[in-house]
Amino acid sequence: MTSLQPFLRPLGSTGLSVSPLGLGTVKFGRNQGVKYPDRFELPDDRQARGILALAWDLGINLLDTAPAYGTSEERLGGLLDGQREQWIICTKVGEEFEQGESCFDFSAAHTRLSIERSLRRLKTDYLDLVLVHSDGNDLDVLDGEVYPTLGKLKQEGLIRAFGFSGKTVEGGIRALDAGDCAMVTYNLREQQEQPVLDHALSHHKGILIKKALASGHICLQGEDPMFASLQLIYSHPAVASAIIGTINPTHLRENVATALRVLHR
Ligand code: NAP
Repeated sequence: MTSLQPFLRPLGSTGLSVSPLGLGTVKFGRNQGVKYPDRFELPDDRQARGILALAWDLGINLLDTAPAYGTSEERLGGLLDGQREQWIICTKVGEEFEQGESCFDFSAAHTRLSIERSLRRLKTDYLDLVLVHSDGNDLDVLDGEVYPTLGKLKQEGLIRAFGFSGKTVEGGIRALDAGDCAMVTYNLREQQEQPVLDHALSHHKGILIKKALASGHICLQGEDPMFASLQLIYSHPAVASAIIGTINPTHLRENVATALRVLHR
C-alpha cells in the first residue's frame, strides 16, 4: 500500500478528517529568516504543482500555510485552482512577515482583515482551519480579541474551525478549552508541550504537530530519524496529523512510506 488515504483521522471534534501527514508550505513562499539547515530557492510553479499532485496521490489531504509564509497562500490559490474542495486548508492569523521581519497584530480588525485577505489569496469562500500564530506570549494573546473574533467568523461560516499555534503548555491548554485544536511542537528533541496533547485527548480536541523534524535538523542525526520521529509522534493518540514541510519529491515519498511503516506496526 502506498497511500495514507485509509488512515485519515478525525481532527478532534471539528468534523474534519485529516491525513496523518500534512504538507507544510513555508518553503513554497519564503526563504528568508527561516531556520532550515540549508539555503534553498523557492520552487517554480511546475515544481510546486508537482509536489501538490504527488502529495494528493500519496493520500495527503491537509495543507498548512500562513500569511507569514511569504507568497505561500497566494501561490496555493493559483496552484489549487479547480481542486479547492478536495483539500483541507489550514492557515493562520496574527503574524505578518514584511521586509525580512516578523510583526504581530492580534486585534479584532486585523484578524478579520487577515481572514478576508486569506480567502482572496487562496481563491476560496471558506477556510477549513485557522490557527492563531502566537508570538509566544500565549496567555496575553488568548486574553485579547483574536479568539472571540475567530469565534464570530466561525459563526458567519467563513471558517470551519479554529485553534492556536503557541509555545507554552498553559497557552495550549487554555486555547484548547476555548477553541477546536492546537498546533504543537513535538519531536525527538522537544517534548515539553506533551501536557497539551494529553489535555486534547481527554477533551476530544484536535492536535497538529509542527516542526516534527525540528525544521529538518533531526534528519541529520541517527540511523532512521524519520521513523523514530513519526513513531514518537503517532504513539500519542491525540495526534491527528504531523505537518512536515518539503519541496523535495523524493523526501515526500520517503516520508509517506515511513509514516505507513509506523502506522502498520
Ligand atoms: P519540519 O517539517 O520539521 O522540517 C522541514 C525540513 O525538513 C525541510 O527543510 C525539508 O527539506 C526537510 N525534510 C523533510 N523531509 C525530509 C526527509 N525525508 N529527509 C531529509 N530532509 C527532509 O519543519 P518546518 O518546515 O519548520 O515545519 C513544518 C511545517 O509546520 C511548516 O511548513 C509549517 O507549515 C508548520 N509550522 C508552523 C509553525 C507555527 O508557528 N504555526 C512554525 C513552524 C512550522 P526538503 O524541502 O529538502 O525536503
